[in-house]
Amino acid sequence: MNARTYDAVVIGGGLHGLSAALHLARAGARVVVVEKHWVGRHASGATAAGVRTLNRDRGELDLSLESMAMWHDIATLVGDDCGFHAHGQVCVAETPAALARLQARVESLRADGYVHEELIGPEELRRVLPELSPHCVGASIARRDGAADPHRALRAFRRSILDAGAELVEQCGVVAIERRAQAWQVVGEGRSWTARAVVNAAGAWAARIAAMVGDDIPLATKSSMMMVSERLRPFIKPVVSIMGRSLSFKQSDQGTLVIGGGLQGIPDLDRETSTARMGVLAKGARAATDLFPAVRDVRIVRVWSGLEAKTEDLLPVVGPSPNAPGVFHAFGFSGHGFQLVPVVGAALADLVLRGATARAIRNLDARRLMSIAQESTP
Ligand SMILES: Cc1cc2nc3c(=O)[nH]c(=O)nc-3n(C[C@H](O)[C@H](O)[C@H](O)COP(=O)(O)OP(=O)(O)OC[C@H]3O[C@@H](n4cnc5c(N)ncnc54)[C@H](O)[C@@H]3O)c2cc1C
Repeated sequence: MNARTYDAVVIGGGLHGLSAALHLARAGARVVVVEKHWVGRHASGATAAGVRTLNRDRGELDLSLESMAMWHDIATLVGDDCGFHAHGQVCVAETPAALARLQARVESLRADGYVHEELIGPEELRRVLPELSPHCVGASIARRDGAADPHRALRAFRRSILDAGAELVEQCGVVAIERRAQAWQVVGEGRSWTARAVVNAAGAWAARIAAMVGDDIPLATKSSMMMVSERLRPFIKPVVSIMGRSLSFKQSDQGTLVIGGGLQGIPDLDRETSTARMGVLAKGARAATDLFPAVRDVRIVRVWSGLEAKTEDLLPVVGPSPNAPGVFHAFGFSGHGFQLVPVVGAALADLVLRGATARAIRNLDARRLMSIAQESTP
C-alpha cells in the first residue's frame, strides 16, 4: 500500500461523512475524509438536531429505531452525550380531525408491532406541556425521542474520527473521480487519493458527486430555515410539532426557543447560499404563538437557513452505487437526517468492509429514484 492508498475516501465532512469515517476507522480501515470547506459547514452545522422517530416514514422506520437506540448510548460511540436529552417529541392535534389522523397512524403502527408512538388525550397533554393553548385536543408522543446539540455532536464526531486514526482534509473540494484498475482515484483541488471504496456524503451536492461515477440520481434542494429567540425561563421540555402545519418548536438548554419545521428559504447550490424569507418565518412564528400564547411578545434574535438534498419520496439514498462498484451513497435526507447519523455510518461501514449490511436500508436504494426519473422522461 503506498502512502496515499486508502480503504475508503469519504467525500463530505458533515455528520454523515464523519459517522461513516468513524465506523470505518474503528473497524481498522484506512480512511480519509475530504471536505470542501470545513466540518459542519452545511446542513450538519445548520440543523435543529431533533432526534425523532415520531411520524417517520415506514420506509425508514426500522433504521430510525435502531439509530434511536444508538442515540441513547451516544457517549459510548463518541465520548460525549452530544447534548442529547430524551424529553420526547409530541405532535399536537388542534382539531378532532387531526387527532383522528394521529390515532389512525398509532393504531396502524400497533397492528404491525411498533409501540414507540402513543396517543394521549388532553389531560396527559397538559401534564407534558402545561403552557399549551387549551384549544389543542390531544397528541401523539414518542417518549424516547428528543433533541441534541448539533455543534457538540460535530465536535464529538470530529474528535472521534481523528482519535480513531482517520485523516481529515478540509478546504479541498473533490472535482473528479476516476477508475484506476480495481480502485478509485478521487481528485481534489491540488491533491488526489486512491481507494478501494468511495463514500459519497456530499449533502446537497451529492448528485454532482454521483454523476462523476455515472449515477444520474435526481435530487431537489431544501433550504430549511430556523429562528431563535432570546433566552426565556424554562417552560417546555419535549420537541413539539403540529399535525398538518409546519412547526418544530423546542427550548434549548440555554433557554432560547428554537423554531423551524420545514419552513423553506431560497436555495442556490452554485453559490452555496441559502437565503431566509422573513414572510415564511412569520408563518412559523404564528404557528408557535398559536400553540404557546405566552411567547407572543418574545424577541427573535437570529435566523438562518441551510442547504440539503431532497428526494422525490423524501426518503434518503443509502447504499451501493448502481453503476460504480465500490462507491456508496448516503444523501437526500430531506430534512430529517440528523437522527439517522449513528446508524447510517454503521451501515456504510458494513457495506464498505463486508459488501452487505443487516441494517434496514432495503427501501433506500438509489435505483428507485433513477427509475422514477426514467419513467417521467418523454
Ligand atoms: C435548518 C435545518 C434543520 C434541520 N433539522 C433537523 C432535525 O431537527 N432533525 C433531523 O433529523 N434532521 C434535521 N435536518 C437535516 C439534517 O441536518 C441533515 O440531514 C444532516 O445534517 C445531513 O448531513 P450530511 O452530512 O449528509 O450533509 P452536510 O452536513 O450538508 O455535509 C455535506 C458536506 O459535503 C461537503 N461537500 C459538498 N460537495 C463537496 C465536494 N465536491 N468535495 C468535498 N466536500 C463536498 C459540503 O461542504 C458539506 O460540508 C435539518 C436540516 C436543516 C438545514
